[in-house]
Amino acid sequence: MAQPDVMDKLVSLCKRRGFIFQSSEIYGGTGSVWDYGPLGVELKRNIKDHWWNAMVRSRDDVVGLDAAILMHPRVWEASGHVGGFVDPLVDCKTCKGRFRADKLEDARCPQKPSKQPGQHDACQLTEPRQFNLMFKTFMGPLEESASTVYLRPETAQGIFVNFLNVQQSTRQKVPFGIAQIGKAFRNEITPGNFIFRTREFEQMEMQFFVEPGSDMEWFEQWKAARMKWHLDIGLSPERLQFHQHGAGELAHYARAAFDVTFDFGGTLGFQEIEGIHNRGDFDLTQHQNFSSKKLEYFDQPNNKRYVPYVVETSVGADRVTLAVLVNAYREESVEGEDEGRVVLGLHSSLAPIKAAVFPLTRKDGQPEMARRIVEDLRPVMAVDYDETGSIGKRYRRQDEVGTPYCITVDPQSITDESVTVRDRDSLAQDRVNTSQLKSYLAGKLAG
Ligand code: ATP
Repeated sequence: MAQPDVMDKLVSLCKRRGFIFQSSEIYGGTGSVWDYGPLGVELKRNIKDHWWNAMVRSRDDVVGLDAAILMHPRVWEASGHVGGFVDPLVDCKTCKGRFRADKLEDARCPQKPSKQPGQHDACQLTEPRQFNLMFKTFMGPLEESASTVYLRPETAQGIFVNFLNVQQSTRQKVPFGIAQIGKAFRNEITPGNFIFRTREFEQMEMQFFVEPGSDMEWFEQWKAARMKWHLDIGLSPERLQFHQHGAGELAHYARAAFDVTFDFGGTLGFQEIEGIHNRGDFDLTQHQNFSSKKLEYFDQPNNKRYVPYVVETSVGADRVTLAVLVNAYREESVEGEDEGRVVLGLHSSLAPIKAAVFPLTRKDGQPEMARRIVEDLRPVMAVDYDETGSIGKRYRRQDEVGTPYCITVDPQSITDESVTVRDRDSLAQDRVNTSQLKSYLAGKLAG
């Protein structure tokens, strides 16, 4: 079944409710750079925490790292980015638009009616030329080529150059992995589709070092583990697919590569959200050659030395955030009401607010009791208090940002210490004693 295109509605919801704003908006905005507002930062943090827990905290064979964004310029020569991190760029002499020659089918020309670049009679596309995607800057006071540094276009290289530091300081034995979350920068030719493709973004990457020969087995294990993770955060199974890189797509050093793709709906359809790659010994060998430092592993029990192979999992935190939002967005009619509701059916572990507390009216001690409940819950979950507008409006406001539970204090609450707890999805209401509230919610949120 074709999934609907909800992008425009999401962009407006995200701005209105404080998930995501355009960067430097009061100056007219910066091209394809976005800021996360109060609810967006919580959502993205919950996604990153989910990843960190699954990849690092719950395993004893993967450890964490937080490497710097700026690295020695030779790193990018060794990695192949200086010579080869290029996209084919075409210009249109008529509209002055710039497009990726290999993604023309995803682009729209500014002429009316908007078509794929090259399809209007007026289009005049140039021959493709290679454009390096790395942002360059200078380290120190002199703007000369000797002081050129790059903003990293991926986090992985920080892991490769620290392979021995980490292995020796933690005494990890191969097979083991190093994981990190951090910013990456790419001067994309055609960024767009909200936070799908931006010039500054966050990656969550893990490099798993294995003995040559065991790489395909680990590759299969990581493929399965990563697909499970996407399902665990609530992405719908029918919207997830693997895409295997064919011979033409495969990087020259890659032994195998699969993308996890997600169906973003509309014309965007299935797109990559994560790459799982068997990189062989390409990266460590390159760094060995360029740095003249040995990056071998000594397998003591078997008394042999080798350069490990690497199985990599690389996922964009922002792209997953977009997938989560698209997946969660739904519009519903409500029985007995003219107005429908917009719901973000977020997995409760990702929801920025877990429970909202409302006094039915602003009198008779109800606000005070509601505030006491908020303070009681705050140490264990993200809570919100709201006393403005009708109760129906307050429910709608919380539905729209994905809050799983709404707690209402009413006249009965004052006499018997019970409150109603409304479930975002089923709309069922339970009456719960306040002394039981914490454990009731904890049980529901864990389930
Ligand atoms: P694409 O083909 O979409 O440009 P890629 O194959 O270059 O992506 P990788 O280098 O494998 O992507 O990066 C791993 C992940 O990082 C991607 O799956 C995606 O989630 C994320 N990512 C890459 N580029 C961007 C970007 N410009 N904006 C947001 N996320 C990105």
